[in-house]
Amino acid sequence: SARAAGDARATPMMAQYMEIKAANADCLLFYRMGDFYELFFEDAEIASRTLGIVLTKRGKHLGEDIAMCGVPVERAEDYLNRLIGAGHRVAVCEQTEDPAEARKRGGKSVVRRAVVRLVTPGTITEDTLLEPGRANLLAAVARVRASEAEWVYGLAAVDISTGVFTVRETGAAGLQAEIARLEPREILVPDSALDEPALKALWRETRAAVTPMGRDGLDPLSGERRLCAFFGVGTLAGFGAFSRAEIAAAAAVVAYVERTQLGARPPLSPPRHAEPGACVQIDAATRANLELSRTLGGERAGSLLATIDRTLTPGGGRLLAERLAGPLTDVAAIDERLDAVAWFVDDPVLRGALRQALKGAPDLARALARLTLQRGGPRDLAALRDGLAAGRAIGAALSGAALPPAELARAAEALAGVDPALEADLAAALADELPLNRRDGGFIRAGCDSALDETRALRDESRRVVADLQARYAEETGCRTLRVKHNNFLGYFIETPQAAGEELLRPPLNARYIHRQTMQGAMRFSTAELADLESRIASAGERALAIEFSHFDRLAAAAVALGDPIKGVADALAVVDVATALAELADAGGWVRPTVDDSLAFALEGARHPVVEAALKREGQAFVANDAELSAPPGGAGGRIALVTGPNMAGKSTYLRQNAIAAVLAQMGSFVPARRAHIGVVDRLFSRVGAADDLARGRSTFMVEMIEAAAILNQATPRSLVILDEIGRGTATFDGLSIAWAAIEHLHEANRCRALFATHFHELTALARRLPRLVTSTVRVTEFQGDVVFLHEVVPGVADRSYGIQVAKLAGLPRAVVERARVILDELEASDRRAPVERMIDDLPLFAAASRQAPPAAEREPEPDPVRVLLDGLDPDAMSPREALDALYRLKQAG
Ligand code: ADP
Repeated sequence: SARAAGDARATPMMAQYMEIKAANADCLLFYRMGDFYELFFEDAEIASRTLGIVLTKRGKHLGEDIAMCGVPVERAEDYLNRLIGAGHRVAVCEQTEDPAEARKRGGKSVVRRAVVRLVTPGTITEDTLLEPGRANLLAAVARVRASEAEWVYGLAAVDISTGVFTVRETGAAGLQAEIARLEPREILVPDSALDEPALKALWRETRAAVTPMGRDGLDPLSGERRLCAFFGVGTLAGFGAFSRAEIAAAAAVVAYVERTQLGARPPLSPPRHAEPGACVQIDAATRANLELSRTLGGERAGSLLATIDRTLTPGGGRLLAERLAGPLTDVAAIDERLDAVAWFVDDPVLRGALRQALKGAPDLARALARLTLQRGGPRDLAALRDGLAAGRAIGAALSGAALPPAELARAAEALAGVDPALEADLAAALADELPLNRRDGGFIRAGCDSALDETRALRDESRRVVADLQARYAEETGCRTLRVKHNNFLGYFIETPQAAGEELLRPPLNARYIHRQTMQGAMRFSTAELADLESRIASAGERALAIEFSHFDRLAAAAVALGDPIKGVADALAVVDVATALAELADAGGWVRPTVDDSLAFALEGARHPVVEAALKREGQAFVANDAELSAPPGGAGGRIALVTGPNMAGKSTYLRQNAIAAVLAQMGSFVPARRAHIGVVDRLFSRVGAADDLARGRSTFMVEMIEAAAILNQATPRSLVILDEIGRGTATFDGLSIAWAAIEHLHEANRCRALFATHFHELTALARRLPRLVTSTVRVTEFQGDVVFLHEVVPGVADRSYGIQVAKLAGLPRAVVERARVILDELEASDRRAPVERMIDDLPLFAAASRQAPPAAEREPEPDPVRVLLDGLDPDAMSPREALDALYRLKQAG
């Protein structure tokens, strides 16, 4: 058999394998041998590791054992899925002729084989391989020199399962943010960009499969030619003005699509420019930190997206994810979306009816894409039929309603945009029960085509003839257990028990019954009648199938011809799905329509964190709603900064994040979980947590924290919203305090953005006395019988103490340790370690006008600190290394 081990040294088969593998070196090669796809050498090792299947050996190559493993063809889809999921690319190599043909050629001829498909994470279209509610993007990066010192990047992204194609140009930082927003499944990267130090972390940390594109990818000139050829145009000008980097990236995507689809042309829309300022800029760290589409642990469940998703269709799910990933900055566009949601909030009856109609609506966009790629099956035609029917019903309901808002009026128009003849045609032609594959036949309804009905009758009649023949043969031979059976090798044959079979070998019966096989306890025979029947049945079946294929091709071609309007229906269904889903969410959760305008307001009343609230609700607990007021006071000096203090576990992070999330929700066009919300459009959103909280990302270094803080301080504008959680915590107390302090000053004086700053450096609240737009808030706690009780209520003011020991006690620290810690704390507080800091704030020139609001209880003039005195006398810039070392020894002694 094909799987039998043999000596593969110089076998023609191995030579063929090597040649095909060399042409597809960057893929795992699925090499078809009989009922298996076999993998060899390193491929086999990778597959056996990834799939947990047994690694065996097959012969030798250059004196070494050849590693091999195989997956059965009928389960290949499942294995492919797992390999793609792990980021691999697979080339599927089939036998392209009957093995009998190869035998005929004689000698050492091998069966001809060819790669029929390249399966890569970014280019799949199969429903079994795709996540329904997620876009499946293939991205490409191109790098073009902008000046001596600078590179610009082109980023192109396509979803071949829906045809979306966008391009944009950006710098290195923007590239990271865009990739975080798009979450592509696969990114094509030229070697030069792969090696670039600024981007190394990006390639390492992205969830996408990173596919190296070779030395330099495509140059812009041949890139433009390729794009023009793909879209059948003479120039790209009709699609917009594209930069060199954008053209190079777009061409790289198209080249890869052409290579992987082996000639089939997916229905890509022409490249569309992603406008730089159209979306709120949210960098990768902020996105991760706010857990917009995944939790910090990388899970989808528990993310904001998963919590707010009430969509009912795959297309709606994808649109919601896209909108959440890229909230808008244009007030009119945001309002248009909010109008649609509000309209459905006000009309629960229509909403309910539409959601009922959406429930069964299939994935129109992906079905259409598969049909266009000639990979579709009967069920894709049915998806068109049902999707178009749902679209028509929903369009009619919308058009019948009074005064739908603009977004929905446009959707209604698109929903009426497909000639109903196609839907009627599909409904008339398709059977009720549909096979997965065309090859299985039986998908064209009886009564639809009389020629088909006749051939089927002939085929079915033949089956009855088989039954009659069996009865006749049984009678004639006197063998009641005689059966007429069928297999691919013999066709129709008679099977009898051994003893009865012996009779048929003797005259006169042997004249009619021709012996074919002797089995264990059974014998097999054929007859002239059976052979004749065989060919009649086979040809009737073939004919029927051919007729069905012609119907399939006709219907698919009709659908592909209406591709654009059908895409329009798919998009409109998604819009209606998202609007009704957001209305459902708002209605059920008591969310409010935010006022979004071009002001610098940020005022929330009774706001909640939707994810934490949902989690608490599952445990029967209530979320404590809180207000926020960061609006810029009149006068144009800038937004407010809220300095939030409170013990660990009080709810500071939750409070910070809920405010950022409110801005994201409002600007994506959703209601927000609050009693009242007024948000002036945010252009950039930044959210950072101190290094100590960042362990989930496996990078607890202070350096990372500072790099991220630097990005904020360098980039935040007066329109931005900044959330800083425990910045400066990753280093020694005084370092951290100083950094946090300087950062607040900078945000207040230079960035002038709206900001929330959570800190456990209570000393910082003294800054509020000098920075007019710095306000202090604290999350209230109270004590009950020596234990801390969290009230989760944010009020103006400053936390009176940090309750660290009480929290530690709650966490189950041994009692002895808790007691000892209390004693140490009392000692420390008695020595008033805060005094020097307070004094410093007062003494710094910038803040000369000192006036204490609430002097610490144990206030007294502190002893001059000898270390301080020494330190003040040092001038590091003027010291030699030797002097510095001496100074260090003196300091050590003094301390
Ligand atoms: P901190 O950042 O102050 O350490 P967190 O924001 O992580 O605290 O909150 C700790 C826990 O307190 C959360 O997991 C949540 O269960 C609960 N919590 C936070 N805010 C609220 C709130 N507003 N209402 C009810 N529970 C809350």
